[in-house]
Amino acid sequence: MEAPAVRLRGLRKSFGAAEAVAGIDLDVRDGEFFSLLGPSGSGKTTVLRLIAGFETPTAGGVELAGRDVTGLAPFERDVHTVFQDYALFPHLTVERNVAYSLKVRKVPKAERLDRARRALAEVGLDGFATRRPGQLSGGQRQRVALARALVGRPRLLLLDEPLGALDLKLRERMQGELKALQREVGITFVLVTHDQQEALTMSDRIAVLNRGRLEQAGTPAEIYERPATAFVASFVGAANLLDDALARRLLGTPGTHSLRPEKIRVLKESAAGAPGHATATGTVADVVYLGDATRFLVDLDGGGRLTALQQNLDTSAADVAGCRGARVRLAWNHRHTVHVPPPT
Ligand code: ATP
Repeated sequence: MEAPAVRLRGLRKSFGAAEAVAGIDLDVRDGEFFSLLGPSGSGKTTVLRLIAGFETPTAGGVELAGRDVTGLAPFERDVHTVFQDYALFPHLTVERNVAYSLKVRKVPKAERLDRARRALAEVGLDGFATRRPGQLSGGQRQRVALARALVGRPRLLLLDEPLGALDLKLRERMQGELKALQREVGITFVLVTHDQQEALTMSDRIAVLNRGRLEQAGTPAEIYERPATAFVASFVGAANLLDDALARRLLGTPGTHSLRPEKIRVLKESAAGAPGHATATGTVADVVYLGDATRFLVDLDGGGRLTALQQNLDTSAADVAGCRGARVRLAWNHRHTVHVPPPT
C-alpha cells in the first residue's frame, strides 16, 4: 500500500500554557481532497502550519509520503501553501507572480513563462497574464494564488480558508471549480475551513477538530449521518441532542442520541404511527419560514423540545404563519437516531 500523503503522529503544539494542538493522529491518503474543519481556535491553522513546516511540534511528528519531515524547513518539503490573503506581489504581473517560484528555483526564463501560462490556463485565467493583482477581482486573485501553487507541481497543496474572502455566490462557484481542478491535477489537497457546508461539498474526507483534538475523521456522509460525538453532530449541520431521560422516553433506549431535524416529519396529531418509526406529540412553539424549507420548534408533551425541518413542497409563507400553537405529531425512523457519548 502507498504511504499516506500526510501522517500526523501524536502531534502536539503548545504556545506557552495554551495547547493549540493536543495530540492528533491522522492519515491523509495520496490524491485525497481532505478538509480540516472546526470552529475558530480549534487548531486547524496550527495543524496546517505544522504540516508546512512553519511551526515545530512540541511533541509528535509529521511524515509526508512516508518521509519524516518533522525537523525540516518548509522549503525542504514538497508542499505549497495558499494563504487566505493570497500573498501576491502587487508590483508584479499575474504571469510573473505565478512564475516567481520557478525563478527562485532557477528554471530558465522561456520555460517558466510557458509553465506559468499553462498554470493560468488551468485555472481559467488565460488572457490575464499581463495584469497586476490590483486590477483583478477577489475570485481572480484567488485563481492566481492557485496557479502559483500549481505551477511547481507540488505533491501536496495546503489551503488555508482559500475562499474566505469571497462572497457567497462566488464562493459556491469556486468550491465546484476547486474540486474539479483537484481531480484534474491529481495533487493531494488539505484545506482548512470553518464552513461545514464547504467541507461537505468539496471533500473526499473531513477531520473535525475541537479544542486541538480530533473528534472524527471520515467521508462527508459518515460525518453527517453517523457523527461520532455530540460536538460533531451539532457543528456539522444542525442536530437535536436527546439526553438520556428524553431518549429513554422517546426511543426506549438510554444514552445521548443525535437526530437531524430533516429526518423528522411533522404530521397531524391524529396521524397513525408507522412500523419502525418513533413518534411524539407536542405543540408548535415557533415556526420559521426559510424559503426552501420551514423550521418547526415543537414543545413535546411531557417535556423536551425538538426542531424539525420540512421541505416547502406545497407550503408558502402564508401557510406557515398559521402553524404556531398547532398540535402536531412528530415521526422519524428509528435508524436516524445515532447514539453519541454525552457532551463533555
Ligand atoms: P481560526 O479559524 O480562527 O483561524 P483555527 O482553528 O485555525 O482558528 P489556530 O489558529 O490553529 O485555530 O489557533 C489555535 C489556538 O492556538 C488558538 O487559541 C490561538 O489563539 C492559539 N495560537 C495560534 N497561534 C499562536 C501563536 N503564534 N502564539 C500564541 N497562540 C497561538
